Amino acid sequence: MKTLCPLPWLSLSTESQRELRLCCHETREETSGVFLEDFSSAIDAFNSDLFLKARQKMLKGEYPQACRGCFRLEEKTGHSPRLEYNTRFCEEFQEMLKLTKEDGTLKEARLAYLDVTTDNHCNLKCRMCRPRYSHKIMEDWKSLGWDPGEKEVRGIDIQKSQDIYQHSPLLEESFSHLRMITCTGGEPFLSPAVHTLLNRVIESGHAPNISLRFFTNTTLIPRELESYLKSFKETHLFCSIDGYGKTSDYIRYPSKWATIDRTYRELLKLKEEYPNFTLDLHTVVQAFNITQLIDLFKYLAQFQGKVPILPSFTRVDSSLPLDPALIQPQLLKKAQKDFVHFIEKNQDLLQSSHREFHEREIKNYKALLTDTLTYNRHQEFLDFVIYAKKLDKLRGQSLEQAYPEFKLGHAQ
Ligand code: SF4
Repeated sequence: MKTLCPLPWLSLSTESQRELRLCCHETREETSGVFLEDFSSAIDAFNSDLFLKARQKMLKGEYPQACRGCFRLEEKTGHSPRLEYNTRFCEEFQEMLKLTKEDGTLKEARLAYLDVTTDNHCNLKCRMCRPRYSHKIMEDWKSLGWDPGEKEVRGIDIQKSQDIYQHSPLLEESFSHLRMITCTGGEPFLSPAVHTLLNRVIESGHAPNISLRFFTNTTLIPRELESYLKSFKETHLFCSIDGYGKTSDYIRYPSKWATIDRTYRELLKLKEEYPNFTLDLHTVVQAFNITQLIDLFKYLAQFQGKVPILPSFTRVDSSLPLDPALIQPQLLKKAQKDFVHFIEKNQDLLQSSHREFHEREIKNYKALLTDTLTYNRHQEFLDFVIYAKKLDKLRGQSLEQAYPEFKLGHAQ
């Protein structure tokens, strides 16, 4: 069936306040209102309205509103997280379909995938982030008098999360079925709950059956990483890097490019030591980087053969004025031209290793660039400038200096 996704059958995903969601890709206006600690067994969680209603829709050949991002992406690129999960969990999903009653309830729960944002502990306050994912950015929002709304951070409690990930009976009963854990943040390497959870999995003896994934800001390597590399079946690190050099400094404040570069190179060394360690880059495409991403691609090209020389791209999803479609069409056309030139020049590198990944991301990024031109909103560019300058003032940064191509003297 064309609308099926395995996640409502076999995955639990948590927000930073431990609220359950279908997955980290969903687009939901309303919060779900159910929390990890509300359930003492996986079957109760999977048969709760959140997952039951999603399964019922999918079984009817429809898709839940919260999943529209995946289906739109498929229309544009032919790829989506849903399709990837269908491939990855094909076997487990077939089993779960056999355990599904006609009305969508499950006879048995087998949690194969756990996708956790455990809290909002972070050492950075990136420009596209929000308090739910960084306790640091809350300081800036307060200084600027921005009210994120009561729901934004309600329930986020680093100590409580650690206790729940330490003692949840739902998780305990599920370790034997787990095949993959993804840890996002905040910065997951700084989250006590992440380390508590992973050590608990190691102690259970099931880690060798489980693939581990982290999305990290690449500013630190925790001492626990080597223990994870030795214990889990495989470890996949996605380094969230949104620009090269000064672009990165500007967006991912207050990190310094020298730290990110050094951490990335240390991770590359670890990769040589551990064959079960995979390293990729993940980039959030936004107004703050679309004109300068070419420098990041050139940086990556020096690591040819070891890692993909393109990141996996995600378009920013934010209520802030940061969408790349806010940028002037002539600058977007230049970004498009630079990208095509980069691909032509590096055709051999792109074909000789990680070929399938490169082909997918070239298609993905080309579609994204085309979309920013087709649905360009340059008339809202000033909103972006105002947002950027408010943060500039607090941080002693300068949009004009970081992005001379915007020719701000003319834009205002
Ligand atoms: S269809 Fe997409 S958004 Fe919906 S649960 Fe699956 S991966 Fe998540």
